[in-house]
Amino acid sequence: MAIENLEHQAEIQKRRTFAIISHPDAGKTTLTEKFLLYGGAIRSAGSVKSRRSQKYAVSDWMEIEKQRGISVTSSVLQFNYNGCCINILDTPGHQDFSEDTYRTLVAADSAVMVIDAAKGVEEQTKKLFKVCKMRGIPIFTFINKMDAHGKDPFDLLEELENVLGIRSYPMDFPIGSGKDFKGVYNRRKMQIELFDDNNHGESIAQAIKGDPSDEKFSSLLGSSLHEKLLEDIELLDTAGDAFDLEQILAGELTPVFFGSALTNFGVEPFLEAFLEITTSPQPRQSNLGPINPTAPYFSGFIFKIQANMNPAHRDRIAFLRICSGKFEKGMLVNHIQKGKKVKLAQPQQFLAQDRVTVETAYAGDIIGLHDPGIFNIGDTLCSDAINLRYEGIPQFAPEHFMRVSTLNALKRKQFIKGITQLAEEGSVQVFKPHFSGTEELIIGVVGVLQFEVLEYRLKNEYGVDIKTQMLPYHFIRWIEMENFDYSSFKLTSDTLLAETEDGDPVLLCQYEWSIKQLAERNSQAIFRETHLKA
Ligand code: GDP
Repeated sequence: MAIENLEHQAEIQKRRTFAIISHPDAGKTTLTEKFLLYGGAIRSAGSVKSRRSQKYAVSDWMEIEKQRGISVTSSVLQFNYNGCCINILDTPGHQDFSEDTYRTLVAADSAVMVIDAAKGVEEQTKKLFKVCKMRGIPIFTFINKMDAHGKDPFDLLEELENVLGIRSYPMDFPIGSGKDFKGVYNRRKMQIELFDDNNHGESIAQAIKGDPSDEKFSSLLGSSLHEKLLEDIELLDTAGDAFDLEQILAGELTPVFFGSALTNFGVEPFLEAFLEITTSPQPRQSNLGPINPTAPYFSGFIFKIQANMNPAHRDRIAFLRICSGKFEKGMLVNHIQKGKKVKLAQPQQFLAQDRVTVETAYAGDIIGLHDPGIFNIGDTLCSDAINLRYEGIPQFAPEHFMRVSTLNALKRKQFIKGITQLAEEGSVQVFKPHFSGTEELIIGVVGVLQFEVLEYRLKNEYGVDIKTQMLPYHFIRWIEMENFDYSSFKLTSDTLLAETEDGDPVLLCQYEWSIKQLAERNSQAIFRETHLKA
């Protein structure tokens, strides 16, 4: 085999591309920052708080983000640790998250789920977990804030099973909790790791390690905590699920870690085990079957489009997940959907906290491409002239709906143009009311902040003022049915039939239980929670 090819394989082998999912405030930002600290990408931690107060964040590209001091769009960070090249796909942590958050998970090979030990499994975590589960990617759990008062570790493991329906395997187990949280028992290495927090998590935590039966731990921990730990270890070994790599990689068993992102306790054992167990880039499904990351050609798909990262330009950035081969700056590739060649001249990558121009990148990496309006979500790019199309990215169910029209009838054209562009970027979904005969549209979003983004951008970029009316619906189903007929479809009083831009029927409901009722009344129809655009 050629040396070039071996190098190429080694590069792909060391890639780890994952998303961190959590409910806001569980500690995702803090943990990400600690990963960068352990990877040597930043020298000292502690910028999260000051960053908040300055209302500045890495991904604060849009004016609206700055105004609200929150991150609306997700970003990507790359750094090295223990011989691995890590790509972290960040997902917005604010409650008003968007469809982008879901889409980002399509580009990830695994997910790290951060859970607040006091709060357990929260709403947003449930939604993001569902998407990871649907994709069958490995899900690793980090139970955070063990230094604060939290729930019992065994209860938390049970909660994962009861609320999310996933079985768990504790990779380590906490020693003490709250202000007595001293460290973890590392089950893989069968050793106790006691941490030392002498500078409040600003630098890497030093650890005293050793066999759990070692007498020194009795004096270090106190005999009662030491005895309790020995009992816990025995209980885990006799009563818990067995470690099963195959199930972990299929997303059916989640390895669980306990720690504190704030004090760094448990961060290192987590990183070490996670990077070892989780996968490097795997084959991706396409119309030509699974495509191996080591395939001799460059290929990838667009999973996210972001506008106005640089307010001085109208340009958009299209985020591409590389699925096979090697990327080189300036390369000419085939844009499969558009049927034309595109030169990838100014690609960007997101190293630690800075954006830089990328010269080379490999399967598993994410690059940002300058987009003069030629890319759509789900597009495939490939260096070879083959008709390769990666599996489409589904549209996820919006949960909020609004009726929208332009205040000034003369601005109708700009209104449609703006809405179309925002729909292309995937930040909103557009529906038409059926039988309405009006020029109103129904806009669906995953998080209500997107309504503000829509209003703001239509006004600032297209000069269009809009009239809006919130609708009471929270559930959508795409209807699949042979010979669908609007007039004979049986509705309930809280539902509305509408259609997609392509004219396909969708159902909007106020209450989830109506869906079951509707399914009974229209037994030939299939109701789908996600939708693959044609
Ligand atoms: P995100 O919204 O998930 O990104 O959460 P942040 O990382 O911004 O953390 C939310 C709050 O929890 C901040 O005030 C953090 O300082 C705090 N926090 C994060 N990790 C820990 C932890 O391990 N222990 C404690 N006690 N607080 C933490």
